[in-house]
Amino acid sequence: MPQTLTAQAATLADFIDAHRRLFVLTGAGCSTDSGIPDYRDTDGSWKRTPPVTYQAFMGEERTRQRYWARSLLGWRHFGQAQPNATHHALQRLEASDRLALLVTQNVDGLHQRAGSRQVIDLHGRLDTVRCMACERRLPRADFQHTLERLNPGWLQHQAGEAPDGDADLEVGDFDTFLVPACPACAGVLKPDVVFFGENVPRARVTDAMHALAAADAVLVVGSSLMVFSGYRFVHAAVRAGTPVAAINLGRTRADPLLSLKIEQPCAEALAFLLD
Ligand SMILES: [Zn+2]
Repeated sequence: MPQTLTAQAATLADFIDAHRRLFVLTGAGCSTDSGIPDYRDTDGSWKRTPPVTYQAFMGEERTRQRYWARSLLGWRHFGQAQPNATHHALQRLEASDRLALLVTQNVDGLHQRAGSRQVIDLHGRLDTVRCMACERRLPRADFQHTLERLNPGWLQHQAGEAPDGDADLEVGDFDTFLVPACPACAGVLKPDVVFFGENVPRARVTDAMHALAAADAVLVVGSSLMVFSGYRFVHAAVRAGTPVAAINLGRTRADPLLSLKIEQPCAEALAFLLD
């Protein structure tokens, strides 16, 4: 290992040792080793078409047809993703009673699959589908069977994996794709995740802020913090005088506010926790 990486690892270990209760905030960089692509490049800019907005999804049947057709293909990969060394390392922090709370911006549920329990899924979970009219919730795996049954021809399309269970499927039009409605009330079904243009439910933010107030330090893992929903916790921490360390390949929105910045892949930077 090059000298600089060894030095960085020691510094991060010192930071973690020095602060007993850590508020951990994770992002897409945590899950790329699990085969889930991220949206942004090292400069924090979009490296692909930005995701669908809440307004477009709720407002247009055509947007929902396109979303679910791509999701039909994307889920086959996303639904099989397994936690990686980063998720396991962060689970160790909780197991050793060092965690105030883990707040994730990811919607893949991989922290819980790795055994973490003190987790807030800030942006919800893709493994659940929710009716926007009656609030009924369905397992995404069951919904997948319904999509497959209604749209058998679509399974033959090839498409690369995209972030958040999306797939890079581009066809002439999506008009023939059948989108099932809520089985109880015929309402619009939506993944139980916070889309762009949609607010994070207030209770999640309040609970996270309480945990942040009781924490001794913040550790950001694999996030560029470009989205305000995550950035606000770092901003609040700094205002309260709580130190913040971040592991991220590339720039983060909070770089000027950080006490420590580790530019390394997350799993490499946290490997010492698994020793
Ligand atoms: Zn319903």
